[in-house]
Amino acid sequence: MILITNGKVFTRDESKPFIENGAVLIDGKLIKAVGSTEELKKQYPDAEVKDAKGRLVMPGFINTHMHYYSTFARGMALDNPPATMFSMILENLWWRLDKQLTLDDVYYSAVGPMLDQIKSGVTTVIDHHASPYAVKGSLFKIAEAAKDLGIRSNLCYEISDRDGEKIKDEGIAESTDFVKYCNEQKDDMIKGLFGMHASMTVSDKTLDQVLAAAASVNSGFHVHSAEGIEDVADALSKYRTRVIERWYKKGVLNDKSIAVHCIHVTDDEIGMLKDSGVAVVHNPESNMGNAVGVSPVLDMMDKGVLVGLGTDGYTADMTESYKVAGILQRHATAKPYVAWGEIPQMLFDNNKIITNRYLDGHVGTLKEGAYADVIIVDYNPPTPIDANNVNGHILFGVTGRHVDTTICNGKILMDERKLVNIDEEALMARSRQLAADLWKRI
Ligand SMILES: [Zn+2]
Repeated sequence: MILITNGKVFTRDESKPFIENGAVLIDGKLIKAVGSTEELKKQYPDAEVKDAKGRLVMPGFINTHMHYYSTFARGMALDNPPATMFSMILENLWWRLDKQLTLDDVYYSAVGPMLDQIKSGVTTVIDHHASPYAVKGSLFKIAEAAKDLGIRSNLCYEISDRDGEKIKDEGIAESTDFVKYCNEQKDDMIKGLFGMHASMTVSDKTLDQVLAAAASVNSGFHVHSAEGIEDVADALSKYRTRVIERWYKKGVLNDKSIAVHCIHVTDDEIGMLKDSGVAVVHNPESNMGNAVGVSPVLDMMDKGVLVGLGTDGYTADMTESYKVAGILQRHATAKPYVAWGEIPQMLFDNNKIITNRYLDGHVGTLKEGAYADVIIVDYNPPTPIDANNVNGHILFGVTGRHVDTTICNGKILMDERKLVNIDEEALMARSRQLAADLWKRI
């Protein structure tokens, strides 16, 4: 048993949100007790003590939309003319990169961001993967990296028609195999979903196939939805329906599914998102970078849609998305008073609701019986801090790099900024080599 003592413990548990001199007792994978340092030290005198030295103790961060496979694009030079619209970014960058990925590349593309996640206190990630010329076994490769490095994961393969029938069928087969495997494992460290790229790359015939395959293994979906205006134009021209409307009518949206972005949505479609119980995931930095528009997340939340926060591969650090999400809404609406409550709700409440939909146990709260996904944050507040203002402290004072200890599923992955049993130098050297090789093939 590990007893974290002397922490400013922020539990995210409404019944006991803050303990000034708090302690968290970890027994195996689970949290056994949360209380005052004095109390728990007395109760558990034999536990191994980890002194938090007055630092913040919080649940690990959760990222509900990530793309590990995008890693090797970092620093990559392309010869294309500048992209003038979103579909060109897909064609000129992402669809050139993903076609070159081998299974080895897939593993190492996951390793880099996973190390960053450990270093920035992110313990649970929902990822969306593509490697059209190395489909078979790709999700198992990412799962292997997640197991090697200790990250709680929910993975999917992005099925689409863009690389032809054979690759589409491979995507469906990989998804079926992987979700079946996860169902059999009954392990909350690894879960799967059926991924699809987007409406504009999934025909009705393929969609029907995907719906049937997902139903056979009782899976929900993880799909980019109405991200670029092209996606809506495509759906209107091919199916005489908008994107969310199409998903809704076909049965893609439900409480086991994730609709990512939802930028170009009407009031009627917001009603469908609400009615279906689907989770929407907002990725502010990516949306700004791709110049695809501003998701009406405040309106969606006001109408009862469950909206979480992701990074879309832009960063591994959730505090970045957290900072940008708020200023994006205030900037776009020209209302400096908006989004102060909603963005913390996305990151600290809704991301855990979304994740816990797929788990038998619980993450995102420091409470008895929850998984021991715990971080210690080396932040020395210059002003008073308590449960009422901690979100403001995190917004203006904390970045992922303040995290100095990361524990996931009861296992210490980083201790006082040192990765535990991870040879970072060797892993990154191999990653750089594979990336350099891939760049030559682009
Ligand atoms: Zn994405």
